[in-house]
Amino acid sequence: MDTANLDTKCRNGYFVGKSLNRYHQWQTMDGINAFNRTLAEIYASLRFLADSGRRGFDCSPESLAKIENWGRAPQYFAESLEDIRSDLGECQRCRLARERNKIVFGDGNPGAKLVFVGEGPGFKEDQQGKPFVGAAGELLSRIIQAINLTRNRVYICNVIKCRPPENRNPRPDEIETCLPFLERQIEAIRPDYICALGTFAAQTLLNSTAPISRLRGRFHNYKGIKVLPTYHPAYLLRNPEKKRDVWEDMKMLMKEYRYED
Ligand code: SF4
Repeated sequence: MDTANLDTKCRNGYFVGKSLNRYHQWQTMDGINAFNRTLAEIYASLRFLADSGRRGFDCSPESLAKIENWGRAPQYFAESLEDIRSDLGECQRCRLARERNKIVFGDGNPGAKLVFVGEGPGFKEDQQGKPFVGAAGELLSRIIQAINLTRNRVYICNVIKCRPPENRNPRPDEIETCLPFLERQIEAIRPDYICALGTFAAQTLLNSTAPISRLRGRFHNYKGIKVLPTYHPAYLLRNPEKKRDVWEDMKMLMKEYRYED
């Protein structure tokens, strides 16, 4: 990687990340020499940071995206989220365009290892143009914190990008029309994991008609990406006794995420 084009903060993060990446490689290598080399690299990187006056790390979404992607396969040929958003434009492709206020495209780390996919925007999301910002959004934030992540390390989006009137369920033709944009988002991000929140997200991604109660609790496959369905946070607000099930799902996700981190 040519570090000359990175700003100073990113370059600093790059050196530390590279060293940590080497540490991962060392875990699969034999010999004290590899260990010593890794330690020396970490020391040199931290020394470089200290000498250049750094007392912390840049945690901007852009830097986190870069760090998150170290060691992952380059995403050749994938279009960017900006390209997809631009193609979506002021979409009028289905009837939901008539009453929406704002399109809710998605939010978070464009290089996320974990993507949360919900059903569709609610009232507050429609007002603000961001996913999961109401009470259900706060609960989702707490769930993300509980698995030791933050919202700016993951990506959050929905199956449909516009709010259905009166928060009714999305209709099959609306899902079918909007789905290609979600598929392109997933292709652009190429996460290792998807957490499908609720019935519509799980059934749509898994092309299944099974209820969420049967789909949750285990990993499924979507184009080589591990998909873990669980209950939607809005459902949890109405049925708090289901939080235990979601916590079991999150523990499973956390274990896999850490194992491959
Ligand atoms: S729901 Fe999707 S397809 Fe329908 S208008 Fe909104 S962005 Fe377009």
